[in-house]
Amino acid sequence: MEVPPQPIKKKLKVGIPRALHFYRYFPFWKKILEELDAEIVVSPHTNKKIVEEGVSHGFGELCIPVKIYYGQLLKLVADHSDLDFIFVPRYVSEVKDSYFCPKFLSLPDVIKILPDIPKILNFEVNVKEFPISTAAIELGRQLGKNQSQALNAYREAQKYFDEYHEFLRKGSSVNHALRLVESSRPFTLPKKKSTGDIRFLLLGHGYNIFDTFINLDFQKKLKDQGVDYITIENLPEFIFKKPVIVNPRGGKLRNYWRHEEEIMQSIRYFLTEGRDEIDGVIFLISFACGPDSLISELIMRDMKVVGLAFLEIIMDEHSGEAGLLTRVESFVEMIRRKKRRLDLGRKYRLTIKSKQEV
Ligand code: SF4
Repeated sequence: MEVPPQPIKKKLKVGIPRALHFYRYFPFWKKILEELDAEIVVSPHTNKKIVEEGVSHGFGELCIPVKIYYGQLLKLVADHSDLDFIFVPRYVSEVKDSYFCPKFLSLPDVIKILPDIPKILNFEVNVKEFPISTAAIELGRQLGKNQSQALNAYREAQKYFDEYHEFLRKGSSVNHALRLVESSRPFTLPKKKSTGDIRFLLLGHGYNIFDTFINLDFQKKLKDQGVDYITIENLPEFIFKKPVIVNPRGGKLRNYWRHEEEIMQSIRYFLTEGRDEIDGVIFLISFACGPDSLISELIMRDMKVVGLAFLEIIMDEHSGEAGLLTRVESFVEMIRRKKRRLDLGRKYRLTIKSKQEV
């Protein structure tokens, strides 16, 4: 007797907006969702229309990354009318003693104001209340999976995410690594190495540094001027083990913003042991970002003490190409002149010394 064909079980389709924590957690999200048998679609790279759409739905004082999130989410929904879910995680606390910015805490609630959005797939990271594995079980439940399937998916995702971080620490840029993740290719470093004569630390949230539309392709501007740069994702793990005490004389004043703490930790490293590894620091900040404007002030003070060049760039939807380029060019030129002066001074001192020895 002929066996009737079995109906093919359709995968649940989950949309992920390319914005905010996409630039930090996408490898983990992709892996866990795929392990849970979901089909993933990601919104396209940010463009003018997406920004305009986001701005028209976000109220005035909102920072641009959140407005872009709105625009990306709407674009996703417009392009994929068959989505079963939209993945909107809630990041509250990932490690003890620190929190994410309030915008992340309330993200699943605020996006409900947008018209005609599909069901939200919840994933809450809040280690102050429960371990991340509990959030993974809840995620699996929403996708029709049992506890053991969800925990397996979580373990696999964590393993993959660790490999991803290892790859970044070997020197890959986040944009290159994300491209590999998105197209499910293995982690391989690009052949061409940059050979700039000066090196910067590029600071900022992933969505400011790696969304090339909103930052007007900032990294390319640096490369075009022969500048090498690293981001905090490329730094070794040990830098992030020690908490930063903001005001040692005042006792135990700690910074409790998750990402800002990482920024401060990396800065503390370059102010001390790593002082000779970079020639300057550039901090990309979104207009109306409370946490970043606060620590920017602290960083600026530290930089003055050690004499390290520092440039803060505030971005919003109105940022202009010409103004940005001029600021970067003058910053680079200033550092090159300073280096030349220092090199000349060193050479001069060496000549005097060798003459004295003769
Ligand atoms: S940290 Fe700043 S830029 Fe990021 S979401 Fe919060 S307010 Fe916006």
